[in-house]
Amino acid sequence: MDFELTEDQDTIRRAVAELAASFDEEYWLEKDSAHEFPWEFYKAFADAGWLGVCVPEEYGGSGLGILEASLILEEVSASGAGMNGASCMHMSIFGMHPVIVHGSEELKAATLPRVVNGDLHVCFGVTEPDAGLDTTRIKTFAKRNGDGGYVVNGRKVWISKALESEKILLLTRTTKLEDCQKKTDGITLFLTDLDRAHVDIRPIPKMGREAVDSNELFIDGLEVPESDRVGEEGKGFKYLLDGLNPERVLIAVEALGLGRAAIRRAVQYGKDRVVFGRPIGMNQGLQFPLADAQMKLDAATLMVRKAAWLYDRGLPCGREANSAKYLCAEAGFEAADRAVQMHGGMGYAREYHVERYFRESRLLRIAPISQEMVLNYVGEHVLGLPRSY
Ligand SMILES: Cc1cc2nc3c(=O)[nH]c(=O)nc-3n(C[C@H](O)[C@H](O)[C@H](O)COP(=O)(O)OP(=O)(O)OC[C@H]3O[C@@H](n4cnc5c(N)ncnc54)[C@H](O)[C@@H]3O)c2cc1C
Repeated sequence: MDFELTEDQDTIRRAVAELAASFDEEYWLEKDSAHEFPWEFYKAFADAGWLGVCVPEEYGGSGLGILEASLILEEVSASGAGMNGASCMHMSIFGMHPVIVHGSEELKAATLPRVVNGDLHVCFGVTEPDAGLDTTRIKTFAKRNGDGGYVVNGRKVWISKALESEKILLLTRTTKLEDCQKKTDGITLFLTDLDRAHVDIRPIPKMGREAVDSNELFIDGLEVPESDRVGEEGKGFKYLLDGLNPERVLIAVEALGLGRAAIRRAVQYGKDRVVFGRPIGMNQGLQFPLADAQMKLDAATLMVRKAAWLYDRGLPCGREANSAKYLCAEAGFEAADRAVQMHGGMGYAREYHVERYFRESRLLRIAPISQEMVLNYVGEHVLGLPRSY
C-alpha cells in the first residue's frame, strides 16, 4: 500500500487491478494488432461501476476524487492494458468534467447516467490542424441559426474514439478571434450528437494504441440545439482550463502504469533469459538502467499523488500537476525503452509486449499536452521567467 493512500483507496486499487488482470496481455496484443475497440473490457469496467468514479452520486456515479480516478487508470494501464485500456475509458471517467461543473441540469440528467452505465460513448473535439497547441486559434465555428440553435462547420484532428462515439464534446468559436477583446473569449463548448450525416470521420493510421482510433473530422452544417451548449456562450476556453490539472494527473498515471508493466516484463525476462551461461539480468549493464528506471517511476509517483491530493482539496496544484505529467511521461518512456533493451531482439517482437508499451509510452510525451508546453509552464509560472512564446 502507498503510504499516502487510505484503506478505501487501496481497496479501489486492488479491486481494479484484479478486474484488469482478467484481460491478459494476449488480449491486448490481439486488440492492438486487429485495431479493434476492446468492448468486453469496457463493458466489464462499466458493469463494475468504475466509469462513474468522478460523476456525482445523483447521476449514478460515486462522486469520488481525482486521486481515486487516478488509481483506476494507473492500475488499468499497469495491468498490461496500457494506453489501449486507459484511453478507451479515459473520456468516460473524467471527460464529462466540464458538463458536471457547467452543464445544465437537463444536459447532465440526459447524459451522465448513460456514461456511467457504459451506454453513452463521448469523444472530445479540441485539436485542429491549423491551431495545434494554440487552442485559441481554432476555427471550427458555431453560428447562430436563427432558431436559437447553432450550425457548426469546421475541422478537427486526432479525435480519439470518434468511430464509437454517439456524442462529441465539441470546442468551437462563436466569435471570431479578431472580434474578441481577449483571445480566450468567444469560444463555446457543446455536448452534441456526432451526426454522421454532417460529420465525416476518417481514422488516422498511427504508431500505436491501435485498439482506440483517432480521427480527422470534417464537420459540415452540423445543427446543434441551444440545449446542447455547456454553460455560457463564449466561456468554453475557461471551462477547459478548469480541467487541465486533473487531466494532467490522469495522463501522468497512465504513463506510470505503462512503466510498471514494462519493468515487470523486463525483470521476468532478465531472470529467465540465459546468455553466456547466466541470466542476462545479472549484467549490471542491464540491471542498473532498470533500477534507475524504477527509482524514477517511484519518484514520479510521489509527485502525481501530491498533485491529486492537492486538487481534491481545492488547493493550487498547477506546479505539481504539470511536473507530474512531465516526470511520469519521461519515467514511463524510459522504463519502456529499457524493457525493450532487456529483451534484445525479442524486444522488437510483438509477442513480448514491450514494443507495444514502447510505442504507447512515446505518445505521452506528446499528447494531450507536450513536454515542451509543460516546460513553458514551469519556466513562466514556477520560475517566474518571461513567457517564452
Ligand atoms: C494518439 C493521439 C490521440 C489524441 N486524441 C485527441 C482527442 O481525443 N481529442 C483532441 O482534441 N486531441 C487529441 N489529440 C491531439 C493532441 O492533444 C495534440 O496532438 C497535442 O496537443 C499536440 O498538438 P499538435 O499535435 O497540434 O502539436 P503542435 O502544436 O503542432 O506542436 C508541434 C511541436 O511543437 C512544439 N511546440 C509548439 N509550440 C511550442 C512552443 N511555444 N514552445 C515549445 N515547443 C512548442 C510542441 O511541443 C510539439 O512538440 C491526440 C493526439 C494523438 C497523437
